[in-house]
Amino acid sequence: MKIKDICPVCGQKTTESADLTVRFDKGDYEVIIHHVPGRKCANCGEQVFSRETVKRLQEIMRSHPAMSKRRIETDFAA
Ligand SMILES: [Zn+2]
Repeated sequence: MKIKDICPVCGQKTTESADLTVRFDKGDYEVIIHHVPGRKCANCGEQVFSRETVKRLQEIMRSHPAMSKRRIETDFAA
């Protein structure tokens, strides 16, 4: 189901539900999380996530503290 909603950045009603890849650049290393459910704006490219999804992303980040790895890839549902 596609949900069109107003983009918080550009104000256009152009966001659609999407399967997103989120990348956090932590300076020394980066964390990449695949298959994150969210919405993406077709106009400006902004990625929008629900509060629950943000909470889950924060939990994933906490479970991957700064390590010797330069690049950490994981799955949202893992
Ligand atoms: Zn936008």
